[in-house]
Amino acid sequence: MKRTDDFSVTAAVPPINPERLHGRLQALGGIGALEGGGVCRLALTDADRAGRDLVLDWMQQLGLEVRIDAIGNVVGTRAGSEGGAPVMMGSHIDTVRTGGIYDGNLGVIAGLEVLQALDDAGVRTRRPLAVAFFTNEEGARFAPDMMGSLVFQGDLALDQALATRGIDGSTVGEELERIGYAGDAPVGAAANPVHAYVELHIEQGPVLEAEGITIGAVEGVQGISWTEFTVTGTSNHAGTTPIRLRHDAGLVAGCVIRFVRDLALELGGDQVATVGSLELRPNLVNVIPNHALFTVDLRNTDGDRLRESEQRLFAYVRELASAEGVEVSHRSLARFEPVRFHPGMVDRVEHIAHELGHSVRRLPSGAGHDAQILARMCPTGMIFVPSAGGISHNVREFTRPEEIIAGVNVLLRVVLELAQTDD
Ligand SMILES: [Zn+2]
Repeated sequence: MKRTDDFSVTAAVPPINPERLHGRLQALGGIGALEGGGVCRLALTDADRAGRDLVLDWMQQLGLEVRIDAIGNVVGTRAGSEGGAPVMMGSHIDTVRTGGIYDGNLGVIAGLEVLQALDDAGVRTRRPLAVAFFTNEEGARFAPDMMGSLVFQGDLALDQALATRGIDGSTVGEELERIGYAGDAPVGAAANPVHAYVELHIEQGPVLEAEGITIGAVEGVQGISWTEFTVTGTSNHAGTTPIRLRHDAGLVAGCVIRFVRDLALELGGDQVATVGSLELRPNLVNVIPNHALFTVDLRNTDGDRLRESEQRLFAYVRELASAEGVEVSHRSLARFEPVRFHPGMVDRVEHIAHELGHSVRRLPSGAGHDAQILARMCPTGMIFVPSAGGISHNVREFTRPEEIIAGVNVLLRVVLELAQTDD
C-alpha cells in the first residue's frame, strides 16, 4: 500500500469533540463500575450486555447500519459515496475483572467519534467506514482471548467457540442467547470483507510514557502461549511425612514460577513469562498439597524463541514431575504466533503522527489485540497512546485526555486517507 503524497486530506479533516469523547468513555466506564474506580465487565455477563446496549444505542443514533453476528460481534457501518469493503475501526468493550475504562473501550468510542466528527462536518468518504466491537477479547471468562475476532476472521469455528465453557461453567452460546446478542449475520472472512483495519488502543505498557512519546506506531504483536498445568500428587501430614517421601504438587508449581523467570532472563530479548493463576488443594496449612492447577503465559516477538521457551518449560516440568513422583498433564489455553502489521500501515500511522506534530515511535505490542487477528484478512495497523505508569488490567489504568485526543486525531487522519485514496 503506497502513500499518495499528492493527495492531501488536511483541508477536509473535521475537528473531533473532546467533551463528547470523554463523556462517552466515562459513561461506558460507569457500567460495571467498581467501587473506588475501574470496571468489571466480563464477556457476556449482564454488565457486558448493558455496555453493549449503550454502544449499540450510540451506533443507532449515528444512523449506522448495525450487524450482529453469530458470535455477538457488533459492526456498525456508515455508507460511502462508493460501495465496497469498509475501512474498519474498532476494538472490544469486555474487560478483565479489575479492568480500567480505557482498554478496548477507547478504540470503539474513538471510532464512533471519528464518524460523528465526519457527520458534524458533512464529510462523506468514498469507501464505507465501520466501527466494530468484538466479543470476548480479554479471554478472562472464556478462553481463548480474541475469540470474537477469531470467529469473525474464520480461524476459529463458530460451533467450537459457542461450546466453550467458561470459568463459571456456562457456555459462550448459552450466555450469548441469554443476553440477546446471538445475532444472525454470518461469520468468516468471505462474508465480511474489510478494506483495512485500524485499532487505537492504550499501550498497556511503560515504553511511551517513559520516553515522553505521545503516539506509538505499532509494528506487530508478540506471540502468546498460554498453558494450564494440572499436577496430581499425594496429600499427607505436613509434620509426619519425611521430605524424601513426599509427592508434593505445590512444589512443582513453586519451582515452575522460579523456572520461567530464569528462563525469560536467560532467553533475553522480548521474552516474558508469568505464572498468573495458581490453585492448591486442599489448601490447608498442615497438609501437603495433592493438587496444583496453574497457568504459564509465555510471550515473544520471535516465533522460534517462543517455541524454544515452550519446549524448555515442558521438558523442565516432565523432569520435575518424575523427580517428585507426581503426575502432570497440560493443555493449551491459547496459542498465537507473533504478528507483523502491514508495513504501509505502520508507515502511515508514523507519518501522520509526525504531520500532526506529535512525538512518535515504532514499537511492538506486548498484549494481544483483535488487530492481530484482523491482520490475517486485511492490511491492519494499530495506534498506541501512553498508559500512565505502564499500568493496565488494573483499576488505576489511566491515559491523559490530551494523549487520547492526539490518538483519536491520528486515527481520524489515517482512516480518512484509507477511505479516500485508491491505495
Ligand atoms: Zn484491549
